[in-house]
Amino acid sequence: MPIDPTLPYDETNIFARILRGEIPNKTVYEDEHVLAFHDIAPQAPTHILVIPKGAYVSWDDFSERASEGEIAAFIRAVGRIAREAGLVEPGYRLLANTGVHAGQEVPHLHVHIFAGRPLGPMLAR
Ligand code: 5GP
Repeated sequence: MPIDPTLPYDETNIFARILRGEIPNKTVYEDEHVLAFHDIAPQAPTHILVIPKGAYVSWDDFSERASEGEIAAFIRAVGRIAREAGLVEPGYRLLANTGVHAGQEVPHLHVHIFAGRPLGPMLAR
């Protein structure tokens, strides 16, 4: 079920539990502000999720409330993860579902990195 982005942060969401170490993950990258891991149900040969360690529901919440340091760390980490995975050539796609119409299912900000094959049109037709 898509989440309601107006609800407060839910400490029991699956990515909060991953951040607390309660659920295992296949970590790709970690620093003070950011964790990245492989998606459990990959939709492309490479499908990585990048999340901030802070409690942010969505891109909307993060862009409004996060500090400059958290935002810079997050954006740089997304680029670095893709670069170090060798995805810059031939390319990759970033996706951040936000709210009901986007079908956001986990109420903790995550950016999807998709790569590894031609990814087709931007939206399903
Ligand atoms: P959304 O639809 O919210 O943009 O994407 C949520 C993503 O989280 C989905 O691609 C889903 O496969 C992934 N996901 C859900 N639960 C888990 C989990 O427990 N571990 C990992 N690694 N990914 C998960």
